[in-house]
Amino acid sequence: MNLFYSYAHFLVAITSFIVALIVFFNGKKVRLNQILSLNSFVFGLWAFFYAIWMLEDSDAEKALFWSRMLNIWPIFIPAFLLHWILLFLNKAKKRKFIIYFYYLLGLFVAPFSFSNYFISGVAPVGGFPFWPQIEWLYSIFLIISWVPVFSYVFYLLFVKMKNSVAVERTQALYIFIGVIFAASGGSVNFLLMFGIDIIPPIFSVLSIAFPILFSYVVVRHRLFDIKLVLRRSTVYIFSVVFLTSLVMVATYLTDIFLVNGDIIYIADTIILVAAMIFFDSVKSFFYRLANQYFFTSLYNIQEVLEEVAVILRENIDKKEIYQLVMQALDKAFHFNNFGFLIFEKRNKKYVVDFTSGFKIAKGTKFDPVKMIERDFIKDAEPIITEELKKIYEDCFQNKNCELSKFIKLLEKNKVAVLAPLNNKGKTEGILVLGNKETNDSYNTEDIRLLKNISAQLAVALENARLYERLKQFNRQLERRVKLRTNQLNIANKKLTETNKKLLVLDKAKTEFLSIASHQLRTPLSSTKGFLSLLLDGTYGKIPSKSRQALEKICISNERLITLVEDLLNISRIEAGRLTFDFRKESLEKVTQEVLDTMTLVAKNAGLTLEKKFPAKSSPLIYFDRAKMREVISNFIDNAIKYTKEGQVTVIIEESKTKIRLIVQDTGMGIGKDDLEGIFEKFQRGDRGGRVNRNGVGLGLYVCRKIIDAHKGRVWAESDGIGKGSRFIIELDKNWKPKKVGA
Ligand code: ADP
Repeated sequence: MNLFYSYAHFLVAITSFIVALIVFFNGKKVRLNQILSLNSFVFGLWAFFYAIWMLEDSDAEKALFWSRMLNIWPIFIPAFLLHWILLFLNKAKKRKFIIYFYYLLGLFVAPFSFSNYFISGVAPVGGFPFWPQIEWLYSIFLIISWVPVFSYVFYLLFVKMKNSVAVERTQALYIFIGVIFAASGGSVNFLLMFGIDIIPPIFSVLSIAFPILFSYVVVRHRLFDIKLVLRRSTVYIFSVVFLTSLVMVATYLTDIFLVNGDIIYIADTIILVAAMIFFDSVKSFFYRLANQYFFTSLYNIQEVLEEVAVILRENIDKKEIYQLVMQALDKAFHFNNFGFLIFEKRNKKYVVDFTSGFKIAKGTKFDPVKMIERDFIKDAEPIITEELKKIYEDCFQNKNCELSKFIKLLEKNKVAVLAPLNNKGKTEGILVLGNKETNDSYNTEDIRLLKNISAQLAVALENARLYERLKQFNRQLERRVKLRTNQLNIANKKLTETNKKLLVLDKAKTEFLSIASHQLRTPLSSTKGFLSLLLDGTYGKIPSKSRQALEKICISNERLITLVEDLLNISRIEAGRLTFDFRKESLEKVTQEVLDTMTLVAKNAGLTLEKKFPAKSSPLIYFDRAKMREVISNFIDNAIKYTKEGQVTVIIEESKTKIRLIVQDTGMGIGKDDLEGIFEKFQRGDRGGRVNRNGVGLGLYVCRKIIDAHKGRVWAESDGIGKGSRFIIELDKNWKPKKVGA
């Protein structure tokens, strides 16, 4: 049994020494570390001599020596503890006299620890053969040192816990628990000193929690979630108790069944070594068990990561990403506030893009802080507000320091963690987390999770940004199209109005044409009548000189009549009043009539007018006789007009279903560019105007309109300028108009 106590305290001693070293090398120059390191070291010495003393089971002298050795060290613990707590609470300077007092008290009492005033001897107590017998100095020291110091420390920590939040509160709680362990661990020994034998002093081993917990606070500012710590320590305690009970039972059994002392010794050692070896497996067994059945609120990093990955995969909209990521993380952390800052590359500022719970408006801008950019943002290292104070301790003391303003800003806004979102080495923004609802700190696992998520988030945010730009571009495009459409609509409206005005004008023009032509036609007709009477000699013989002049007047008059007829036709066409009188007629017959009237004109122009009709006369087809005459005479008239020498040939051809009339000349021909347009209104061709100054470019237009009404085709052909032209009409033999003349 003593062997077990011995080993257990050895373990405590080694742990304490290691802790002392870690704390020391973690901050050699920091007073907080120095004192804690000393404290752990002294505590370790106590445990070490405790272990040696426990091994002694035969020599009372030696046992007394070791028990005195072990009792020196606790003399200094109240002073160290008080000093350290006051340092932690920033009260060391104010209370330095109390600290001095306890150090001096320790130094004063220590030399007497080997005297009989302190410990006078050893005697069997509570199953231990050589338990120290304490004297009045020991009791007095306990009363003026241990009791008030511990009470004071408890009080200070209690006040601290009540008045602080977040990390500081957690730290205070942490230390508080450590002090409880120390006090209870110590008291089990003290009770036995006073002969009170209720709790076995094995619990003094638990006081190891005291240096360990303190060290956590100092070494790792990023504390474990206190709940996590409690859970883990519960598991630890369970494992220790479980194994201790097993060991106790086993050593008890070896005591009973094995007679030989040496064998007992070996057996106990084996049992202890086995217990140590199995400790880890027992611990993880309990941890698994506890995790499964009791600690259900512990989140699973993998699950959170997967959830976030799915969110980022399925969403491209920034706002949705913010909202969903917040929900996913809140399930793990349960924070009070959450937000996103976006880094604007244009003006190098951080802009609040999303906030939930923070009292800062969206769109608020912040300047980057140089040191933070250099030490954290660049490497995508999460920033923990509480840590900043320690990391930049020197700067933080200085009120003008840029960092001290930054830290105050974070504290004022209750920001606990900033996680930079870096993509390809560049910052897209920052994820901002407030304190947890429980006021626990963010632990290493939380930070690991955040780091992992930020990398993914950064990529997603960049995509979201590109998507946003695309959307914006699209909106701009839509706006422009709308603007242009509006402009077009306005232009269109103007055009429609102008068109309406033009139509009115056009109508007026058509009406004018119609009236003018009507008024011209009657005198022209009577002129024609009188001229032919004159030429026929009705009013007496005409001298040949006069006859020539009269003939010229007659031709000009004829031209005028044609022109007036064309103008009248056009006004009719445009007013939609051109009427037709379709009957079954012979095309040859009508053509012959026109030829008869034109022979004289051709002769006067020095041309021969020929015809080529089919041998067997073609069948009768439907057409408007008067209008068809107009078309044919227009063609022949043009052919004569635009031909200087040679001949004009009128051909009629017949195929199975069509009849063609062709007026062919050997005249000036038509250029390729003009061929298309000559059937349009007022189109005179390039050279037509030069050759015949009297024309106006209406004849062919009227012809086309007439042939269109017969559902026929009309076109012109020419082999080129100077090579003559062919004007062709093609009519359908079987065409039948809707309305046939009587
Ligand atoms: P106009 O003869 O009064 O100019 P038309 O409508 O009868 O009007 O003819 C339009 C144009 O077609 C003429 O100006 C002329 O350039 C061209 N044209 C018509 N017939 C011939 C032809 N037989 N040979 C060459 N050009 C012609």
